[in-house]
Amino acid sequence: MPKGTVLVDEERCKGCGLCIAACPQKVLGFSGRLNRSGYDVACMERPESCLGCAFCALTCPDVAIEVYREKVAS
Ligand code: SF4
Ligand code: SF4
Repeated sequence: MPKGTVLVDEERCKGCGLCIAACPQKVLGFSGRLNRSGYDVACMERPESCLGCAFCALTCPDVAIEVYREKVAS
């Protein structure tokens, strides 16, 4: 089973929530942290559930998400 990690560039994030809605694993949520523009930025709330599918990154209109994937022995 692949395992993923998501990095959100907080200064690029506009807090639109599209990545949160796009994640099939319900990994993402709002952090409650405001960036310099005053947006509540997205973060990994349930990192253990991330599969590295990159739907979130493909959905983000501000290209604020990078996804890293590693293979875990099953
Ligand atoms: S890579 Fe996939 S599973 Fe992981 S946070 Fe993004 S949409 Fe969710
Ligand atoms: S889709 Fe992009 S801009 Fe919108 S909340 Fe997610 S990371 Fe931020």
